Amino acid sequence: MDKYLPLLFLFLCISCSDSEKNNHSVYFAGEIVNPTSEYVVLYKGGKALDSTKLDGNNRFAFQLDSIKDGLYHFNHEPEFQYVYLEHNDSLQLRLNTVDFDESLIFSGTNEGVNNFLLELFLAQEEEEEDMYRSYYDLEPEDFKAQIEVLKNEKLKTLNDLKSETGLSDKAYEIAKASIDYSYYRYMEIYPFEHKRKSGENALHKLPKDFYSYRKDINYNNENLNYLRPYYDFMKSHFGNVSYMACAEKCGLKGKAVGNQLHFNEHKLHVIDSLVKEKELRDNLFRNVAFNYLLKEHNHPENNEIFIDKFQKVSGNNVHIKEIETLYNGIRKIQPSEEVPDIKVIDFNGNEVSLKEVAKNKKAVFYFWSSANKNHYEDIFKRVAALNAEDDDISFIGINVKTDEKNWNGIIQNHRLDPSKQYRSENFKELTETFILIPMNKCIITEDGLIVDAFSNIYSTL
Ligand SMILES: [Zn+2]
Repeated sequence: MDKYLPLLFLFLCISCSDSEKNNHSVYFAGEIVNPTSEYVVLYKGGKALDSTKLDGNNRFAFQLDSIKDGLYHFNHEPEFQYVYLEHNDSLQLRLNTVDFDESLIFSGTNEGVNNFLLELFLAQEEEEEDMYRSYYDLEPEDFKAQIEVLKNEKLKTLNDLKSETGLSDKAYEIAKASIDYSYYRYMEIYPFEHKRKSGENALHKLPKDFYSYRKDINYNNENLNYLRPYYDFMKSHFGNVSYMACAEKCGLKGKAVGNQLHFNEHKLHVIDSLVKEKELRDNLFRNVAFNYLLKEHNHPENNEIFIDKFQKVSGNNVHIKEIETLYNGIRKIQPSEEVPDIKVIDFNGNEVSLKEVAKNKKAVFYFWSSANKNHYEDIFKRVAALNAEDDDISFIGINVKTDEKNWNGIIQNHRLDPSKQYRSENFKELTETFILIPMNKCIITEDGLIVDAFSNIYSTL
């Protein structure tokens, strides 16, 4: 008998690998009502896997061969949402962009877990508001008990779904993590929000078991890296742990963080010591770098120190180019640096350099796009008011992401002075040079030199 076994084994393997090839393809399709873009793009983590164009009936379809079971994202500009896919899946969705998340419905194989993740996402948007409205006021014991109640309700729904429809282990793991980490996150935020809301002058003393869930944290589960509740938890968690480490070692004692460089060094250290999984590690380090570099403008001399420390713990970060571009960009727009030589188009269609535009005058550059009507109408009003106060200053609008005809129309409709309006055709260059986050930022210059590149059009100039 035994001598036939290897042959039988081989035979079975051939047939199973064959059927694997044929059956592992995934069909993911859908209909988008009121499309805001022509495309749907499917992502695994930060990587675009495939894209497809909507047809004449606003329908799209992906046929994917042998993809890994797990969490994906699809993007229909400007929105993103999850989709959980497993081999052999045939899944359809329908959505209306007017109410993107609220209108989204999945049908087909694995509709259960996909609709569950979506409902969870929507429920938690509301719950987040309840946290701020009332729950963070509670005393620690009561808060923890309340969180347990909410969490167990969600777990019960998930377990019912599992026994009714039979979720795979992986689908269950992702749905459960989505619940667990959402509630763990509130626990991490609680001490700080409780202090803020109660007006107490120190962080409230917490019972010994307050953070008992921390023994269950998994810092190294790559299936969860792009699950929003997991990643958001990690950001809050490392904020909390870094603050507590600093309070203990450096005597911060419930005070606000004064020195951002010092605090962010703690953060780099804590992440470095706890997270080994490369992708999560890189994403969290990137988050620290962006937060630090974008928020800290009072001590630009510290940026170099920060970047040196960053290189030491995360020199091989996959996002290192992006971080260095940001760092270098910030360096080039410090006070008394020359306005960068960026090309823009004037109202007559001529290409001019912003360096020239900024010459021999005091100027404030502000930014707008036709994509957000409320945003630009508010900005135009604000600029008109500022202009009335101080006509020494030239307020200069730079438009991004609007075609020429539309741009002309908006300028005329709002009776803007066309000699003070320009349009950029290179959004990437402009945002990287002027670090256009947030869009309300404005740049103050005098005689071609930067005065403040990190001002805000709504603050006093
Ligand atoms: Zn410290």
